[in-house]
Amino acid sequence: MENVVIIGSGCAGLTAAIYAARANLKPLVIDGQEQGGQLALTTHVENYPGFPDGIMGPELIENMRKQAQRFGAAFKAGAVSEVDITKRPFKITAGKDAYEAKALIIAAGATARLLGLEGERELIGRGVSTCATCDGYFFREKAIAVVGGGDSAMEEANFLTRYASKVYLIHRRNEFRASKIMIDRARANPKVEFVTPFVVEEILSPKGHVEGARLRGLEKKEAREIAVDGIFVAIGHDPNSTVFKGKLEMDSNGYLLTKHGTLTSVPGVFVAGDVQDHRYRQAVTAAGSGCMAALDAEKFLEEHTD
Ligand code: NAP
Repeated sequence: MENVVIIGSGCAGLTAAIYAARANLKPLVIDGQEQGGQLALTTHVENYPGFPDGIMGPELIENMRKQAQRFGAAFKAGAVSEVDITKRPFKITAGKDAYEAKALIIAAGATARLLGLEGERELIGRGVSTCATCDGYFFREKAIAVVGGGDSAMEEANFLTRYASKVYLIHRRNEFRASKIMIDRARANPKVEFVTPFVVEEILSPKGHVEGARLRGLEKKEAREIAVDGIFVAIGHDPNSTVFKGKLEMDSNGYLLTKHGTLTSVPGVFVAGDVQDHRYRQAVTAAGSGCMAALDAEKFLEEHTD
């Protein structure tokens, strides 16, 4: 029987593990699909406080893991396939392994959607990015593309004009999901060129980093090539919440809903990080909510000694 099982080993899960371990709860962290979460997939992180020269994402997350281990957190590889949170102790299944826990912290994160193009995943950190806030700074005076037609794409296109010399906004339709004010702002920005209805057919990277994109028009089927150093894919995120469907409250996009910080509708189950946050999505905000979840779990266990 575990005191606390933490699902997810990204920034939120590891911060929860550090706090829970320092409270002598000996937490068990189940790594999840992507050990280290989204930080493990980023390059230089310059906005995490405490690192004046920045730090590589994988190094930052590895440091957090070591810090949690130092205080006694245990880790298990594997992704959670089933949970029973109808009564305590909660039952968590990850493949062939089953665990019981007095409290549960869900920090399963969200996965940025990719376009599904050849080489796209390998080019993350070499011109392909899913995070303008994280990587925009590296594209000073460069031409870049943003793909998508939602609020994220509009926001990122506008934000990236702070750095980029030009931003192509590529969207597969002439209509946008984004709110009117966000579209108007992007349209009014002289650095943003709307390219619609177009899709990216190929990322051009002859030397192993992005140099351009081959586009295809969906009305006239015309081909177009653009020279860009960066491609920001802003086509949404999927919260990793499938196993909690019907068990915990979530919004229409699958983000888990919390009340009073990290508490859920099930006493003893707490939620932290991007699996419940589609607004801020920063390493530091995920870490902050991981800390809150551990403090909430500690308090819950103090009050429920059965
Ligand atoms: P979203 O609203 O779901 O939009 C995703 C966009 O990506 C859509 O335009 C969609 O095109 C496109 N897309 C999806 N799959 C694609 C594919 N395979 N290839 C090409 N294009 C694809 O996602 P989001 O923009 O990340 O926003 C998520 C939520 O956060 C929304 O509720 C949004 O309002 C909110 N948000 C708010 C703000 C703000 O208010 N400041 C900022 C960011 C996000 P189609 O339209 O053709 O399907």
